[in-house]
Amino acid sequence: MGLYFSISGLLFIIILMYNFFSKERINSLETKIYKYMIILTSFGLLLDIITCIIFNAGLDYHSIAYVFASKFVFAYFVVWFLLFAFYIKSISITNVDNRKNLLNTTFYLFIILFFIVIPFIFILPVDYELVNNVIVPQGIPVLLTYGVSFILIIYSVYITIRYRKNIVKNKAKPLYIFVVLLMFNFLIQRFFPEAFLINFLLSLTVIIMYFTIENPDVKMIKQLNIAKDQAEKANRAKSEFLSNMSHEIRTPLNAIVGFSECLIESPHLDTEAKDHAKDIVDASNNLLEIVNGILDISKIEANKMEIVSKEYNPKEVFNGLCKLIIPRIGSKPIEFRSNITEDLPGILKGDVGKLKQVVLNILTNAAKYTDRGEIIFSVSCINRIDTKKCSLNIAVKDTGRGIKKEDINKLFNKFERFDEDQNTSTEGTGLGLAITKSLTEMMGGRITVSSNYGEGSTFRINIEQDLISMEAPVGSSEEIEIDYSLHTGKRILVVDDSKINLKVANNILKPYNFTIVEATSGFEALELAETGTFDLILMDIMMPKMNGVECLRRLKEIPGFDIPVVALTADAIEGQDEKYIQAGFNDYLSKPIDRYQLNRVLNKYLGGK
Ligand code: ADP
Repeated sequence: MGLYFSISGLLFIIILMYNFFSKERINSLETKIYKYMIILTSFGLLLDIITCIIFNAGLDYHSIAYVFASKFVFAYFVVWFLLFAFYIKSISITNVDNRKNLLNTTFYLFIILFFIVIPFIFILPVDYELVNNVIVPQGIPVLLTYGVSFILIIYSVYITIRYRKNIVKNKAKPLYIFVVLLMFNFLIQRFFPEAFLINFLLSLTVIIMYFTIENPDVKMIKQLNIAKDQAEKANRAKSEFLSNMSHEIRTPLNAIVGFSECLIESPHLDTEAKDHAKDIVDASNNLLEIVNGILDISKIEANKMEIVSKEYNPKEVFNGLCKLIIPRIGSKPIEFRSNITEDLPGILKGDVGKLKQVVLNILTNAAKYTDRGEIIFSVSCINRIDTKKCSLNIAVKDTGRGIKKEDINKLFNKFERFDEDQNTSTEGTGLGLAITKSLTEMMGGRITVSSNYGEGSTFRINIEQDLISMEAPVGSSEEIEIDYSLHTGKRILVVDDSKINLKVANNILKPYNFTIVEATSGFEALELAETGTFDLILMDIMMPKMNGVECLRRLKEIPGFDIPVVALTADAIEGQDEKYIQAGFNDYLSKPIDRYQLNRVLNKYLGGK
């Protein structure tokens, strides 16, 4: 009976070995030990089969062949339990600091044990007795084998209990299974002494270990999942870092742009100095674009980008974009033509901020990568009155350098730039189109490109927006003009903890002839607002001790307080304006302060055209 068990066990182990060795494996210590356990188990089963054959062939069990074979069986048991205990130890002390030292010590101890026990097994004599037709070996080698095996099992159980917190539940399974199997074996052995099953049970343990934890596929998937989690964590940390850095960079940039703009407008400077100041503004705006790009991509990757829908006038938006792009073309011999359909509805609803960003990006690219010829910006639409949807088709066609066929697929990848030799004179990060594609898709739209290298490219965006009304809203105007004389004598309170930012605000506000009062903290602002009268308060959000939102709350507690308060922040996050308006601010200005936006705010709250 034992023979049949051993043969079937061996067959099973051979299949398992084939499976195990033909697959790519994780190169961990426990997997290595397991590898030796499989090889050893197949060797043990082979030995079992040989001893059974010798016995069945009627050979005397006192013969040299039988004695030798049985001594190998004892040695096999000892080595098997040594490996098993070492395996258990290696999966138990995963999170321990001195894992390497502990494992090394165990390894050397086990080696010493091996060299003490094995010679005794081979040198000392063994007796055999035939009980109920079963050969029962006796003598010191037998006692040694059982004793050492028993100690190793106890040791394994002890290790599992001691390090139970470290062992992933699944990993303790082979030990539990083994203990149950061993008890099962004793029971069977007790009632059917002729069934010498121990070896078969050892192989069963190895097989079960394969199916529970050592299957290379399962292990690989687990390791990959761990690696994926780690990578995701690192990516989130990176996104957070980038977004913090971008915020930090925007604050000093605010000062650079602000002061340079003041220099351009200063009556005391000559043209050369003003030209330099203009170059500083241009370079800073480029830097700002890059910072915004990084902020955007990190937000997209961290899934923090949100769609903020608002009503807007599409004609106004697209005409505004044309005005923005003309200065980007500069003095290049390019004819810019816009072809905006007359049937654009008066009011659409969608994320107009992101729509502007994506269209401006492809227009800017056309301006950047075209040296001569023309750029045609066309907008057409299909209005579905019944479903209240408007499908916008936006196309930007240029006669620029074009994109090679093999590069088209990579066009929307991050940090991908082509024709580096030509690109050296054109600034960019290779983030623009990756952001454009992500934003377009977030809005439910599609972006496509067709291009002939050397002839030009056409970028098309198709996007659906809610159709609110075919009629344009009354009173909307594209231009904001400001009459500086209107503001003479008006009192403005500017609250910012950074002296340099206060100076920038002061300079920007100078042409309006306001009386400007500065406060460097929320507390100071509260004091000033209580004692003096103001027509407008510009309030920084990020201030130590009392932030802008808290300061506003306290201001509103002053009886009769009705001064408009505008939030100032370096957070260029889309949808943030709504947040500040919800917090009670009348309006919102992002840093670096854009003069167009500033005029809009001043006109709205101080009166103007
Ligand atoms: P950036 O302009 O910052 O390099 P983009 O992601 O906007 O990054 O563009 C990626 C690359 O695609 C550019 O570097 C350029 O090589 C190519 N490209 C984009 N638009 C055009 C265009 N209209 N014509 C030719 N090449 C273009």
